[in-house]
Amino acid sequence: MHPIRSFLAGAALAALGVLSAATAVAQTYPTKPIKLVVPFAAGGPTDIVARVLSVPMSKSLGQSVVVENKPGAGGTLAAAHVATSAPDGYTFLIHHNGMATAPSLYRKLSYNPLTDFEYVSQVVDVPMTLLGRKDLPAKNLAELVTYLKANADKVNLAHAGLGAVSHLCGMVFRKAVGIDLTTVPYQGTGPAMTALLGGHVDLLCDQTTQTTQHIKAGSVRFYGVTTEERIKSMPEAPTLNEQGLKGFDVKVWHGVYAPKGTPAEALQKMNAALRAALQDPAVVTRMRDLGAEIVPESKLTPDGLRSWLKLETERYAPLIKSAGVYAD
Ligand code: ASP
Repeated sequence: MHPIRSFLAGAALAALGVLSAATAVAQTYPTKPIKLVVPFAAGGPTDIVARVLSVPMSKSLGQSVVVENKPGAGGTLAAAHVATSAPDGYTFLIHHNGMATAPSLYRKLSYNPLTDFEYVSQVVDVPMTLLGRKDLPAKNLAELVTYLKANADKVNLAHAGLGAVSHLCGMVFRKAVGIDLTTVPYQGTGPAMTALLGGHVDLLCDQTTQTTQHIKAGSVRFYGVTTEERIKSMPEAPTLNEQGLKGFDVKVWHGVYAPKGTPAEALQKMNAALRAALQDPAVVTRMRDLGAEIVPESKLTPDGLRSWLKLETERYAPLIKSAGVYAD
């Protein structure tokens, strides 16, 4: 066959191959259940958000969105797992600020959040709350600061590992009060909350998605909300900022990611399903009651997540460096 003709034939076949793969995804994706990996133990705030969203997403995608908890190392084990998963459109990760802090916290991180993933969308922003075990002597933030100054060596703070926002919040709190505390890591703030409720740890900073129910039930000491302004879901709850920890402002943002190379059609369908879920009345009500704020339209896009992740990675780097916190 004439060389030009064989070249054209080859090119046509190659184009057909690409077209058929893309068409295959476009026409039939998803053809099997989709994994949504949660980088913390079941029951924690990340898990709660994932499971609330998985119900309407399963319906709109026509396949189950199966939440899979893969805890460990402050969320980095799960992120590494998803980064190296098959980019076939059936594995996704939901994660929070930890995607931006891990590169500064872990000197040997096996993945790069800014290059090893595709980006689906941001999801919700969630405030945090500083809590104590029910029988901790300090009844409010002022009493807690006095108590900590006199008993720092006897008080511990639970968190979900280096890279978890409960650890980040604990770091910011310790710096703001000028004391050091023993910290106790858990596989997620689900188990950490169980330990707090059982009186096995003294303090926990966790997201309102999980803590609202316990604050309202009076089963923990409540010291303050971590955002600068009070939150609509608990307007009576004072912030740490207004109680004297000036500038205390920790909020948790969430994104959905896929392995680099995941087909565009799969990313688009997941984005559409996520957007629809965030407009589902049951989801809107649940998120509102849990103090979670659905992000605006501009953030419900791949670039809305990618550009935010880049900004946050750059923002956290000097803060973490100056705190001298890292893992080899
Ligand atoms: N968000 C984590 C969880 O769901 C906890 C954390 O990051 O502190 O367990």
